[in-house]
Amino acid sequence: MLAVVSSHAPIGLEGELVSVEVDIRRGLPGIDIVGIPDVAVRESKERVRVAIRNSGFEFPADRILISLAPAAVRKEGSSFDLPIALGILGASGQLGKDGMSRTMVLGELKLGGGVRPVNGVLSAVGTGLEAGISTFLVPRENLREARVLGKGHIKGIDSLKEAAAAFSTNATCKESDDLSLQPEAGDDLSEAVRLQGTLADIRGHENLKRALEIAAAGRHHLLLFGPPGSGKTMSARLLPWLFPALTREEALTVTRIHSVAGVLPPGAGLITHPPFRSPHHSASVEGIIGGGRLLRPGEVSLAHHGVLFLDEAPEFGMSLLQGLREPIEDGWVCIARAGSTARYPASFQLVLAFNPCPCGNMGRDNHVCRCADVEIQRYWRRVGGALLDRIDMRVPLAPVPAQQMCMPTQAASASLARERVAAAIRIQRERYAGLPFSVNSRIPPGLIDRFCPLRPECASELARAAEIHAISSRAFHSVLRIARTIADLEAQRDITSRHLTEAIQHRRYGDCDYFWTRVRP
Ligand SMILES: [Zn+2]
Repeated sequence: MLAVVSSHAPIGLEGELVSVEVDIRRGLPGIDIVGIPDVAVRESKERVRVAIRNSGFEFPADRILISLAPAAVRKEGSSFDLPIALGILGASGQLGKDGMSRTMVLGELKLGGGVRPVNGVLSAVGTGLEAGISTFLVPRENLREARVLGKGHIKGIDSLKEAAAAFSTNATCKESDDLSLQPEAGDDLSEAVRLQGTLADIRGHENLKRALEIAAAGRHHLLLFGPPGSGKTMSARLLPWLFPALTREEALTVTRIHSVAGVLPPGAGLITHPPFRSPHHSASVEGIIGGGRLLRPGEVSLAHHGVLFLDEAPEFGMSLLQGLREPIEDGWVCIARAGSTARYPASFQLVLAFNPCPCGNMGRDNHVCRCADVEIQRYWRRVGGALLDRIDMRVPLAPVPAQQMCMPTQAASASLARERVAAAIRIQRERYAGLPFSVNSRIPPGLIDRFCPLRPECASELARAAEIHAISSRAFHSVLRIARTIADLEAQRDITSRHLTEAIQHRRYGDCDYFWTRVRP
């Protein structure tokens, strides 16, 4: 007897449809799995055997052959437990086989017969729908995730017994709750973002607040440097508060990445707000760029459409920091390992924070910096000139004087900044509709003239500033992109000389050989 169940093998963000074929015939009792299964898939036969018995079914005492097709696709993870178990029950006549092959089944089995959540469910549903499958059985904890596309009959299940019931009655999961596809709740800020505080929690630091507003509006890469206690980390963590919600398209991609990486919280649906990722400097290259045995996306991809924050940036090590250049340039990372490759989106806003010198005292009142010039240079070089050159905005921070700490918060002006950011992002989305980028910081060099045109008097002013500050051609483009964002924050079509002057202020610090000490105001 043969039974076929559909399932899914996650590969990169997409994955492939897998058909689980179970054949049972007389012979020495045993179970074989073919179709290059990895270790977790091979272990699945033990879990399946015990789970079937503990669910009140009979495990057939015959020869069982399980084929995962197509054979050339690498299958990983434990999501094949449930389709294999259902296939065995179907092939041994304990369940009706009708509709099995037209149903996609995902889930890991517990020994007691319960179902555990799996990774990549959103990708699986997307792949299934494209292949014409409309019925899905997914672990209950993955149900909201599976339903974010708003299509298909999707049923959340807790146990093998419950999954089997969907096939024993003739109607394959047509219960009313399957079709109640609630739209996701609005764009309200999540609790996690609220807890980090708002722009109003920054006392003093007018220059910093303005820089955060511009960086949020144009998604410009940002460097915050200053002595310990100057508020670098806190300010970086406030950025998500300034962001408006993701578009639906962006939200789907972000959710897909988090799902494939297995970091979506249980029961989560669509991620609607730009993610904020802040890996520790002890994280591995695989953890940050992506990779490992399962070619999982790394932090650069988990930060797609959001922020990648590297606190104490020089501690991350030069090779890792240099590895960020590729995703910064392309917006993608390609990971290859043992014959398979995966490509993940990685268009993030990089925020670096570090002390101005190894001891941290440079620029600090009542403290003495004992670092030699050469040590300071070496410290900055650990971040690397090439990476620093790609950071549009650099903000020097000094600790806030005590009397400023006691000033009242300005909630109203913070809310206004948030509204300006939302409006500026709307302007950019409209302007760049149909283009492969949607924010000013991503305008490619070839399109700068088109989107950041300057009147002749502004052009000559910029040329003069470039000479005075000895800025590179990349910095030249940075200034224009920042000026574009400043103009967008005022909803102005033309970049004026005032916008340019402010943009230059935000770019001038922090190039490798161009220290705060030398340009200190
Ligand atoms: Zn020092």
